[in-house]
Formats: sequence, C-alpha cells, structure tokens
Amino acid sequence: MQENKSDVIIIGAGPCGLFAVFELGLLGLKSIVIDILDRPGGQCAELYPEKPIYDIPSRPKVTGKELTDSLMEQIKPFGPKMYFSQRADSLIKLPNGNWKIITDLGEELEAPVICIAGGGGSFTPKKPRINNIDTFENKSLFYSVREIDKFNGKDLVIAGGGDSALDWVLALNEKVNSIHLVHRRPDFRAMNDTVEKIRVLEKEGKLTIHVAEIDKLNGVNGQLESVTLKNKLQDNAYKVDCNFMLAFYGLTMKLGPIAAWGINMDKNRILVDTEKFQTSEKGIFCIGDMCSYPGKLNLILSGFHEAALMAHGCFNLARPDEKLRFEYTTTSKNLQNKLVG
Ligand SMILES: Cc1cc2nc3c(=O)[nH]c(=O)nc-3n(C[C@H](O)[C@H](O)[C@H](O)COP(=O)(O)OP(=O)(O)OC[C@H]3O[C@@H](n4cnc5c(N)ncnc54)[C@H](O)[C@@H]3O)c2cc1C
Repeated sequence: MQENKSDVIIIGAGPCGLFAVFELGLLGLKSIVIDILDRPGGQCAELYPEKPIYDIPSRPKVTGKELTDSLMEQIKPFGPKMYFSQRADSLIKLPNGNWKIITDLGEELEAPVICIAGGGGSFTPKKPRINNIDTFENKSLFYSVREIDKFNGKDLVIAGGGDSALDWVLALNEKVNSIHLVHRRPDFRAMNDTVEKIRVLEKEGKLTIHVAEIDKLNGVNGQLESVTLKNKLQDNAYKVDCNFMLAFYGLTMKLGPIAAWGINMDKNRILVDTEKFQTSEKGIFCIGDMCSYPGKLNLILSGFHEAALMAHGCFNLARPDEKLRFEYTTTSKNLQNKLVG
C-alpha cells in the first residue's frame, strides 16, 4: 500500500484513536493517524499527564502519560503511520468511492474509511496578548514545532512554563546557537524529571531562564530580531536577541474544520449509530468524546468499546472481498503471530 493510502484514516491520537489502531490491526486493517498535537495521548497527554485515572479496566491507577505510553506500546506491532502537528482540514469524496483528507500542511491521504476520534476538538494554541503578534506568526513565531531543522544554529526564545515549553527546550538545546526560556513565574508546571533536566541545562550554562513576560516583539517584515522582556515586580524591561520564538501558552479545544464536513451533528458532537459507530456519511465513523448517541458517556472505557465495534463495522467497506473472522487473542495463532511475531 502506498504511504499516503491506508484502510482507515484516524483523526485524533487520543486514547480512543490509539486503541482504534489496535482493534483495526487485529482484523488486519492498516491505519494512518493524524493529530494537530505534536505527541499522542489527546486530553490524557495534554490536560492531565500526571494525574491518576482510576476507572480504566484492570488498571487500578494509571496516569494520563502512562496510559498513553501503554497504548503506544500496544499498537507497535501494527506500525501505524502517524502524522503529528497537522490538522485534518478538508474531506473529499473521490470518484473511486474512497475518501481523501487534506491536512493544513497540504498532506493528501486516502482511504475507504475515515474514523473521527477528535475528542473535544482539535487542540488550538492560546495566543498571548502582545501588540503586532500577527506580523510575526508563522514567519518567526510559532505555536508548535513542525520543522525541527528550522532552528539549527539559530537564537531561540521559548515562552511558557508547562511540559510543551520545557520538552522543546530539551529537544532543541543541542541544535540552536542560544536558547532562552521565558516564564512569568520561577516554578514550572511540568513533570519533575523534565524540570530537573532543565535546571541542569541552566547550571551548565546551556540555557538562560528569564522570570518575565514578553512585552514586545521587535523585527522587520515578520522576522524577529529580539523580544523585549518585562518583569512586573522589578518593572525593568530588557531585550533578548533572537531569530525565532516558540510560544506555549496552553491550548483550548475547538471543533474546527470537522464542523463543515456536512456530517449530521447534535450540539457540536457527531451523531452515530451504536451498531457500527457510523455517521450520516457512509464510510465515515466516529468514536470517543466526539460522538453522540443516547446514553453516551465521555469516558475512555466507552471509547475503547466504540473502537472495537467500529473496527468490525467498517471491515466490509475497507476489504469488500474478504470475510471478517472473529477471533480471540488468547486462542488465535494468527492474532498471536501479528502481536508477538
Ligand atoms: C481533567 C480531566 C480528567 C479526566 N479524567 C478521566 C477519568 O478519570 N476517566 C475517564 O475515563 N476519562 C476521563 N476524562 C475524559 C477523557 O480524557 C476523555 O474521555 C478522552 O480523552 C477522550 O478520548 P478521545 O480519544 O475521544 O479524545 P481526545 O483525548 O480529546 O483526543 C482527541 C485528539 O484529536 C485531535 N483532533 C481533533 N480534531 C482534529 C483535527 N481536525 N485534526 C487533527 N487532530 C484533531 C485533538 O488534537 C486530540 O489530540 C478526563 C478529562 C479531563 C479533561
């Protein structure tokens, strides 16, 4: 199968999208996954990575990050192609009956089945209130990292105090010429282990940390030359030279382009049947927080159940010439070979 073609395109790498890869994989169906975030896990990874979840069957206590890591481990045998930092923007019905998804980066992906696992919507960055910020956006100021090599040998300012800001400091510090982390408080809202690594970098002189806010962006034609920082308590402003800035001020969830795809909806949620989790459009399925049906509960375990029924429900559309065989992982040699090789 070509790289940009698959049996199923899953929109959303939250827990339900990830488990869908597994359920589809058991039936021999290949998946492509797209998420606007730069990492898997959806709400678990973004909103509560360190908080324990107590109602995942057979896991008495598991954090959002641990659950995401386990799901990634579980789907490894099926090697899904994952497109991160990209939003599924348009949906087009092709003459051959397949669906095409075009992302905001212009990636074109094709499959007979689409599974929307978009949760509460695509995570959208909160913008800081800084004059003339629009001039610099997507030229030298970014809210996510899409091309790591862009920053090679450059002077970089990263603003924010959460996991995203700190993880990108760790990922980019070896590549850049200089790196400055700007956060309005001296303490960070990130995993302990990450904060410890940040402190080590600072001690080694590889990172400068500023307890301040970004007051002004300075440059010409959208190209940053410096940022002006201000510490409200000390009331002193000063400039830090830079070519690029990454801003991580948190995320909100917005339904986004899916709302315009012509699928029947009810209050920002997609209506599905509870046999296959198919929407009003043949070949478009929806599971997890984004689907709506009588009695729907926004729980991860509900999304897992929906993923299993969706996988069985879409099989005939993905593989019209094959017969679906129901097998147990405990007793099927075929499934065990797929899972453990
Ligand atoms: C604070 C908090 C605590 C919670 N505690 C629990 C709990 O204890 N137990 C429990 O069962 N549930 C809990 N939940 C709910 C649980 O997190 C959700 O039910 C679950 O995350 C839904 O999974 P999902 O895969 O459907 O969607 P999400 O986790 O929301 O993931 C959807 C993903 O789709 C992406 N996406 C959407 N649209 C697009 C697009 N157009 N293009 C690209 N990507 C897109 C989003 O960026 C996101 O990453 C909690 C939620 C919160 C906020």
